[in-house]
Amino acid sequence: MIVYYSEVFKRHVPPYRHPEAPDRLDYLIEGVREAGGRVKEPKMREDVWQLIHLAHDKNYVNLINKLCEKGQGEIDGDTYVSPGTCEAAALAVSAVADAVEKRETALIAARPPGHHAGFMGRALTAPTQGFCIFNTAAIAALYVGEGAAVVDIDVHHGNGTQEILYDKDLLYISTHQHPATLYPGTGYPEEVGEGRGEGYNINIPLPPQVGDDVYIKVVDEVVIPLLRQYDPKVIVVSLGWDAHRDDPLADLNLSLKSYLYFFDQVLKMQKLTVVVLEGGYNRSVIKNGTEALLRLALRGEFAPKESATETAHSVYKHFETTMREVRQYAGRYWRL
Ligand SMILES: [Zn+2]
Repeated sequence: MIVYYSEVFKRHVPPYRHPEAPDRLDYLIEGVREAGGRVKEPKMREDVWQLIHLAHDKNYVNLINKLCEKGQGEIDGDTYVSPGTCEAAALAVSAVADAVEKRETALIAARPPGHHAGFMGRALTAPTQGFCIFNTAAIAALYVGEGAAVVDIDVHHGNGTQEILYDKDLLYISTHQHPATLYPGTGYPEEVGEGRGEGYNINIPLPPQVGDDVYIKVVDEVVIPLLRQYDPKVIVVSLGWDAHRDDPLADLNLSLKSYLYFFDQVLKMQKLTVVVLEGGYNRSVIKNGTEALLRLALRGEFAPKESATETAHSVYKHFETTMREVRQYAGRYWRL
């Protein structure tokens, strides 16, 4: 695994105190160094704006570019544009396309994040764009085309990715905290896709406070079986560290064991895997998680270096209910 990183990704700068700030990447890079990982500086591609237009409406892209030229702009209460935002967001898209083209297993250590950005910005029924500008993961999937799969393990539903890929026969799987309890309020199992995309959109909502036992079960019983049946050419992972128990913005109770288990299973599939950074706001989780991920990817070390978590009985009951719904809807299209 190679890490695509540039200081340009820190030029997206919040105009006020914000959890999604440039220093997240300093912690990430510290984790990369601790693991002895290799960093590569991405270059801006000439076709980058064509790539962005694969997923976004022209008027939306123009608006973002105007705000960058102006020097700043608040898109909504959560999401802002600073002078360096367009360069940072476009370089993230360049990096992911290069990793796919060069067939490099990669971690794209970029910001701003992307999975809440829909075709025209705010996606589905979300109140805001949730810190996101261009949907790097969806762009990667559309760039790959046939055989692309996106697996979104950020704690929030990737509503933008779902919206953009909804009528495409490209697999989108999202595990996230239950939409009744967290932004953006979508990501129910009955949202299965439409047209050519029917059956290709899989939402696995998790009740607050589920632990590693539940997450590992979801990976074993849903995520990996679906990926095997779909047989992807490329797996794009939308990685958010915010499903960790120490994240300040959400309420799942996972340890790094869940993350490593997921990545271990995915990497064992031996498919080209490109990981895109989305959320995650606890700085030590970003650092330690990145270090653990790279140790796993580079040397096969499975070392979460923290205690695993278990799900309380009452929470497990809620999980069983939603898992039945997942099987009911996804089971129409896949063997589960
Ligand atoms: Zn998130």
